Amino acid sequence: MNVTDLARPEIRSLTPYASARAIADTDGVGLDANENPWPPAGDGSMALNRYPEPQPRELKSLLAERYSIDPDHLLLTRGSDEGIDLLVRTFCRCGLDRVAICPPCFGMYALSARVQGAGVREVALVETAGGFVPDFDALAAGPPCRLYFLCSPNNPTGTGIDADDVLDLARRVAGHGLVVLDEAYVEFSARQSLAAEAGGQPNLVVLRTLSKAHALAGCRIGALIADPSVVELLGRVIAPYPLPTPAVTTALEALQPEVLARQERQLLVLDEQKQRLVEALQSHPACVRVWPGEANFVLVRVADAAGLVRSAAAAGIRLRDQSAQPGLDGCVRITVGDPAAIDALVEFLERWRP
Ligand SMILES: *Cc1c(COP(=O)(O)O)cnc(C)c1O
Repeated sequence: MNVTDLARPEIRSLTPYASARAIADTDGVGLDANENPWPPAGDGSMALNRYPEPQPRELKSLLAERYSIDPDHLLLTRGSDEGIDLLVRTFCRCGLDRVAICPPCFGMYALSARVQGAGVREVALVETAGGFVPDFDALAAGPPCRLYFLCSPNNPTGTGIDADDVLDLARRVAGHGLVVLDEAYVEFSARQSLAAEAGGQPNLVVLRTLSKAHALAGCRIGALIADPSVVELLGRVIAPYPLPTPAVTTALEALQPEVLARQERQLLVLDEQKQRLVEALQSHPACVRVWPGEANFVLVRVADAAGLVRSAAAAGIRLRDQSAQPGLDGCVRITVGDPAAIDALVEFLERWRP
């Protein structure tokens, strides 16, 4: 069986839309795309009157190099959010197929599935001494799903997943589904990315993003890494010009060596601030438990989560209440900010008594 056999029949038989840029990417007099010949005012060098490259080659090769993969294993998307949506729309038939999620987890997996009319099978994370881990036996044994969403380190618990467990699940569900490993926070963790493994295991998809460690949430650039046959299939469904020229230009600048070196140093600063934050929480009388996790946030359980979020808001600090998530009653997620933000939070915690 080929992994593309799992896609919706409509997508398998689809003839991709051939945009002008996809047909002819050459220089010369462009009279093929109904563009305006004059750049808009203030455009500078970006040629915004022209359509962008559908899959900008330079950005693609830079990211492929960073992720140690071949460019044909990579699809650039409008953030990982679009990668998730493309997977669901390509592989799940409305009313027939389902996805598996492991709550508490990122909300987009279930949202994209519901928009598509796909079922959502919830297999809750299991709380262990080391954090919250997926129940791999339950995932593999239960009703078959087209997509199995895993997240490492997971949002909002911060727990990482061992590579062997991910690959093992991929092998166990290979006859009917794909494992989608969301690595939005992997740069904050000591773990290796599984991006390079997505080549050897055709039903494994890895999602990376420039939104978190690369500080480009406003650029909306994600990278979906998969077998080239899956990349080709998703390429039929993606919008013809998903990445705006200014976003690509900014991302290229952010991937220059000196910027990357600065970001490495910033990651170290965040790590120090995280230690400060964890210590302040652990020594607080109202704190029941802290999960430092492997990402740029901390999960904490307190006696009154809503009270903490409200008091912090009154002090001008926004925190995220997670207490409505299954298994997370009393829990609040706190992003690790810059030293000034953590100063403010530590100072607030010194005064806060629920
Ligand atoms: C923030 C986040 C993303 C990133 O989404 P983008 O669309 O790339 O900004 C993906 N997955 C999880 C779990 C996240 O928390």
